[in-house]
Amino acid sequence: MHCASCSALITRKLKKTVGVEEANVNLASAKAHVRFDSSMVHEHDLVAAVKAAGYKAEVRNEHGHHGVELDRKRQESEIADYRRKFLIGFALSFPMLVFMVLTFLPNSSLHMMTLPYMGIVSLILATPVQIWLGSGFFRGFWSSLKMGTFSMDSLIAIGTYAAYLYSVYNLTVHVVTEGSVFGDVHDLYFEVAALLITFVLLGKWMEARAKGRTSEAIQKLMSLQAKTARVLRNGQAVDIPIEEVKVGDIVVVRPGEKIPVDGIVMKGLTSVDESMLTGESIPVEKKEGDHIFGATMNGNGSIEFRAEKVGSETALAQIIKFVEEAQGSKAPIQDFADWVSSWFVPAVIVIAIITLIGWLLVGATFTFSLLASVSVLVIACPCALGLATPTAIMVATGKGAEHGILIRGGEPLEAANKIDVIVFDKTGTLTKGKPVVTDVIVLKGVADEVLRIAASLEQGSEHPLAESIVQHAKTKGLSLSSADKFQAIPGHGVKGLLNGTQYYLGNRKLIEQEKILLGEMENRLQQLEDEGKTAMLLADKQSVLGIIAVADTVKETSKEAMEKLQSMGIDVYMITGDNRRTAEAIATKLGIQNVLAEVLPEKKASEVKKLQAQGKRVAMVGDGINDSPALAQANLGIAMGSGTDIAMEAGGIVLVRNDLRDVVMAIQLSRATVSKIMQNLFFALFYNVIGIPIAARLFMHWGIVLRPELAGLAMAFSSVSVVTNSLLLKSFHPQRRNWISDVAPWFMIIGFTAVFFLFARISS
Ligand code: ADP
Ligand code: MG
Repeated sequence: MHCASCSALITRKLKKTVGVEEANVNLASAKAHVRFDSSMVHEHDLVAAVKAAGYKAEVRNEHGHHGVELDRKRQESEIADYRRKFLIGFALSFPMLVFMVLTFLPNSSLHMMTLPYMGIVSLILATPVQIWLGSGFFRGFWSSLKMGTFSMDSLIAIGTYAAYLYSVYNLTVHVVTEGSVFGDVHDLYFEVAALLITFVLLGKWMEARAKGRTSEAIQKLMSLQAKTARVLRNGQAVDIPIEEVKVGDIVVVRPGEKIPVDGIVMKGLTSVDESMLTGESIPVEKKEGDHIFGATMNGNGSIEFRAEKVGSETALAQIIKFVEEAQGSKAPIQDFADWVSSWFVPAVIVIAIITLIGWLLVGATFTFSLLASVSVLVIACPCALGLATPTAIMVATGKGAEHGILIRGGEPLEAANKIDVIVFDKTGTLTKGKPVVTDVIVLKGVADEVLRIAASLEQGSEHPLAESIVQHAKTKGLSLSSADKFQAIPGHGVKGLLNGTQYYLGNRKLIEQEKILLGEMENRLQQLEDEGKTAMLLADKQSVLGIIAVADTVKETSKEAMEKLQSMGIDVYMITGDNRRTAEAIATKLGIQNVLAEVLPEKKASEVKKLQAQGKRVAMVGDGINDSPALAQANLGIAMGSGTDIAMEAGGIVLVRNDLRDVVMAIQLSRATVSKIMQNLFFALFYNVIGIPIAARLFMHWGIVLRPELAGLAMAFSSVSVVTNSLLLKSFHPQRRNWISDVAPWFMIIGFTAVFFLFARISS
């Protein structure tokens, strides 16, 4: 594929194929994503459809290591191919370039000497360039013609063939009238055709190289993978290729070695550098029972661990898959670029014809008019437009992954740029989600009995509050019994029978539902709640037996993140099922003004909806488990991957690290990316806007004329500039302003304007 019109053409062809529900062809990654009904159409039919459109395709079943390896090979061969073609083209065109320079020195002896042979030599040199090196453009032209449209290839093919055939015609006329191929033949433009193709190939070569760099992130991730693992087999440690590690294998890792797969530590103590997955540079302590992840780096300890996830299941493989999918996805803004380019090419052909006829009508020579018209065709190729969005998205998603921010493609990236409100889940998102018991108040009965009953009830619950109570009872050495008819009531608490007695444990709502009066206990509750603690009441059928209060510490970095977001003009909200006082107390600590408290789990999504109804674009940040509906309802869902468990479907963005500063970074990155896309689109359009009138020789009066081959060179470099501009996102840094990236487009615009005029001078 050469440009946006190619990908648009293939998309159209695929969509027309019976059984295809959706097709999306990505120019930058050279991948097509197709959803189809397998009972109606086969994969090979899709490949055939692409072939019928004049392009090559293969089914890509391979993911992970193998697939990326294939991509890399394909990319490398593409680069090598363009390089070879350019070099051959250049070698063949060079003598013609010399002839061209000599025409500026008409009285030099070298010119006198070569002049009689210029025509025939040019024909011999230009023909292979036109027919062989330019065959790709012609094929593209032909296949789009069959589909009744024009593509960028059409522009190059028509432009070069016009110059080439016109020259052949003039040479033939010369031969017929003079009876010899030698002599001073007028109006030969073989070099225009040959140099144009050569320059476009140069541009393609540079572009392919630059595009290769946009997907480096995945290759970098791939290279993190260990090649071998040392596993215990019959008590012996043996080195085996990583592919042969099975779940349940005991893997031995020595100090300083790479951890091969995901697993749970069985023996040993160490610290592990997980920065390659999480972006967190501080090593993490690992002891027995802790999870460790493939591709991370072991520190000073020796450990043995049991392999739990291998192959495509590992956290690294999941991240790679995530990024790969994201890079192949399409951004909404891309539709605009596609729409423009779909109209652009036909419009350019019309402008070229008008240019030709217009100049002829005002009395210009045919040669002059033709050259102007060819320049128009060439300069207006919308390649830069097609590359503007996907390259920026590829770089941004790769950059995000480097920092432990997984962005599911262009859509969430664009959404993140436009967010007005961010709603944070309290437990586990703003706080650590590991509450600890702080107070046990006994109102009736024996001390410890309250805790014992509470913990016995909570054994059946998976709520973090329940875990903290059970944990606390265990450390006190209390023996727990199991409850009958246990029931968890979401957003309220739990109930169950112990030795035939009915108990309730939960918040006010739960107790009040049982018609138990709180009386003066309300004061105690409020006191605890004002301290930011979650107070739970334990009651039997008649009265309250005690209060258990737990506190969840806020993450050290949450406050900083909230301040940053607010300073970026974003409103932050806290949402929680906890009671209002507790929530307010914690919100105050974090500097959050907007609190949505006592929200039942299933109502979180409707709270998001309410904010949206006020015309706000809402992002929801949650731990992705019970927050899924809210994450899906929000304009942007940001899921916190607890640890490295990133196999999450809910979020448009997944944060590998459990740190809210990454929300800030994600938004900064998306803002940087969207502004980069805008710069690229603006540049691509600007370039065409000033390029076309110059090419059409409208400014001839001021001596500004652009030769077609130089128009080709300018066109080629416009694509290269756009890709390079996207690559500047690689220097994105959350704490630093990316000056180079900000000013680069201005330099591009100034540079290009200068180049146009410089070329125009050379030409005139
Ligand atoms: P969040 O996830 O925002 O912390 P939940 O909706 O899970 O809130 O819970 C809301 C409230 O319901 C808790 O603050 C607590 O008072 C009560 N609750 C929920 N589950 C339990 C439980 N297993 N034991 C005791 N109280 C509970
Ligand atoms: Mg929760």
